[in-house]
Amino acid sequence: MELDDLIEQHFRLTPPHKTGLHKLGLRTLKDLLFYLPKRYGDAAEVKHIAELEVGELAMVSGRVLSNKISKTYKTKIPMAETMVEDETGKIKAVWFHQAYMAKKVPKGGLAKVSGIVTKRGDSIYLANPEISPVQEIELTHHGSLFNKGELNRTPIYGETFGLSSNWIYHAIQKLLKAGLHTKVTDAIPEQILNKYHLPSLTTSLVWIHSPKKDEDALSARKRFSFEEIFFIQISRQKEKRLYKANPTFHIKLTRENIEKFTSRFPFKLTAGQNKAVEDISKDLASDKPMTRLLEGDVGSGKTAVAATITYSTVMTRPFDIAQGKPQDFGTLQVAYMAPTEILAKQHFESFINYFQHLPINIGLVTGGGCFKFPSKINPESFTNISRTQLLKWVANGEIPILIGTHALIQKTVKFKHLALAIIDEQHRFGVEQRSKVMKKTTDSFAPHLLSMTATPIPRTLTLTVYGDLDLTVLDEMPAGRKTIITEIVLSANRNKTYEEIRLRLQEGRQVYIICPRIDPPSPDGCGRASEPDPEKENAINAKSVKEEAIRLKKKVFPEYEIGVVHSKLTPAVKEKVMKDFVDGKTQILCATSVVEVGVNVPNATVIIIEGAERFGMAQLHQLRGRVLRSSHQAYCYIFSESKSEKTVKRLKALKTAKNGFELAELDLTLRGIGELDGKKQWGITDIGMEAIKNIRMVEATRTEVEGILDIDPDLSKHPLIQEKIKNRTKPIHLE
Ligand code: ADP
Ligand code: MG
Repeated sequence: MELDDLIEQHFRLTPPHKTGLHKLGLRTLKDLLFYLPKRYGDAAEVKHIAELEVGELAMVSGRVLSNKISKTYKTKIPMAETMVEDETGKIKAVWFHQAYMAKKVPKGGLAKVSGIVTKRGDSIYLANPEISPVQEIELTHHGSLFNKGELNRTPIYGETFGLSSNWIYHAIQKLLKAGLHTKVTDAIPEQILNKYHLPSLTTSLVWIHSPKKDEDALSARKRFSFEEIFFIQISRQKEKRLYKANPTFHIKLTRENIEKFTSRFPFKLTAGQNKAVEDISKDLASDKPMTRLLEGDVGSGKTAVAATITYSTVMTRPFDIAQGKPQDFGTLQVAYMAPTEILAKQHFESFINYFQHLPINIGLVTGGGCFKFPSKINPESFTNISRTQLLKWVANGEIPILIGTHALIQKTVKFKHLALAIIDEQHRFGVEQRSKVMKKTTDSFAPHLLSMTATPIPRTLTLTVYGDLDLTVLDEMPAGRKTIITEIVLSANRNKTYEEIRLRLQEGRQVYIICPRIDPPSPDGCGRASEPDPEKENAINAKSVKEEAIRLKKKVFPEYEIGVVHSKLTPAVKEKVMKDFVDGKTQILCATSVVEVGVNVPNATVIIIEGAERFGMAQLHQLRGRVLRSSHQAYCYIFSESKSEKTVKRLKALKTAKNGFELAELDLTLRGIGELDGKKQWGITDIGMEAIKNIRMVEATRTEVEGILDIDPDLSKHPLIQEKIKNRTKPIHLE
């Protein structure tokens, strides 16, 4: 038995086993050995209905709202449905051929239901589950590995269709018996393990798969989470050091010159903006390429910072290597990339305002066309030009500033002296796209990079997934902004709230309405019977953009135009809907949370967020930021049907937290580990997330990683680490 042997060489697999293994990404014995249990104890843990994931075997506990027995429409199979509700939502249990199941717990009674979470259309249900009456609603304490008060230390593994935790358990036990775990090599240096009292890899495998004591399982988990964070950090730090080793452009500008440029702004820079400009100027003047993340709440004025350092850059002459001194003609160039056409256009217009007094050409390249400022005919304005012409001028250096969407990284785009790449809303781009921008220059120097984001990131994450970036936080809002009024609206006050919003609409303001879903749930939870179902609205009670727009138009705001935008629309339709809203042709925009981040519609001052309990707080905060764009009073109405105390507490934090960063930290502590937004994007597993919640552990790994790279920058003395980094199957995505 060897680590790289295929599972099928040693186990008799049925077709469902094969599908299940494939789905879990388990191919070799090593994969299986490193498939770690989620927890220990009973087969299924009681979960919140709102947290169920399709395909898992799950147990929920709640009140029975209704029982119904019927026959499927065509095939006349007897079927039963029971609707169960807990504090987070409702779900149907559906049985075929066993209609009596629906009678096991009467309407109004409390039940424990366990079955596979199955998806049909937009809704989910529990298929042919077990159901039994209970005395009280149970909920296993989240975040705890062990079911309290139990001595059962059977590991429970994540299951999938065709592959049970039990099967996985026995398979892994077979590997342990054969001693496969003694064949692994431990890439973490021994002195680090000793320093932090972490078990060796071989021991950890035994302790995690068959613990004799709770503490053993815990220290094994600690080791695995340390390891995961350690390797993410080491690869990020190594990339960073590699990039920093490149020669780069020296960009130096006096404080005086910068002040001259910014004095034309219709406002004074905040202390935060000044500090950001200073941090960046230092990077630009050093001899290493900058890799900096500027993190500033929505509306904190990142564009003005971007403009100021763009100014420093385009006022600098390119360096003539042959002559060993700067040229006496031409300028360095800046690329400014934004995730959407609307945003790119907005930046283009802002930059025209900032640069119009200077002899600086500005280009805009998007899928929808190319523009140049100034126009030959009208020097006050910009003009439409051909892509070929624009790209020619960028390639020969005549256009120092090029703003654009993804169109900016197409093959045909080349800069002569690209010295600074600015990426706005960087979480919307992948690492690859980012590195593409950085390779756009024909110069032999590496460009400086400024990434910008309005997403507040907990400190543990900035040290880990963003470990290759230096951080500047813009933690101050321009003075004179009115603070937003945030209200948590419970269902009884819905109509009263609509009337308040009508007043804002009558004053000429615009409104965003954010819903958690795109489509309404399919009429029937399981889709088999299509008889009218009086409970259909309850299937999963979250509002959909499409339905809500129709309802509002019919019943609430018939006198206003309502636009609808969500991710399933084509980019062209999306842009059109957004443009109508920007132009005020529609007064209300009904959207999912994908509504473009950072879009600046100053006239939109009201936002309603439906089903708020379904969003992370950082996300709610982002959404709220959309209406913080003007001097008009802004309002955010958080609609929630949730009766859960924890949820209400979480939502109330939105009223009290001073800024997005405070919220991000709170979110991390209040929510379960598995619920964080973006976990998947970062490529961190559940076990790694345990470390992300632990600042001391993250700082410890950071210290160790720096220690190693300081003495062994290319890791030649640490071949095991080197190999481990190489073998991280896919490069994980930063953003
Ligand atoms: P974000 O950081 O979200 O990208 P923007 O750069 O779009 O924010 O700025 C939001 C608004 O604030 C813009 O209308 C901008 O002109 C304005 N603004 C920026 N800096 C200041 C400042 N120091 N004082 C007042 N208004 C400012
Ligand atoms: Mg912005």
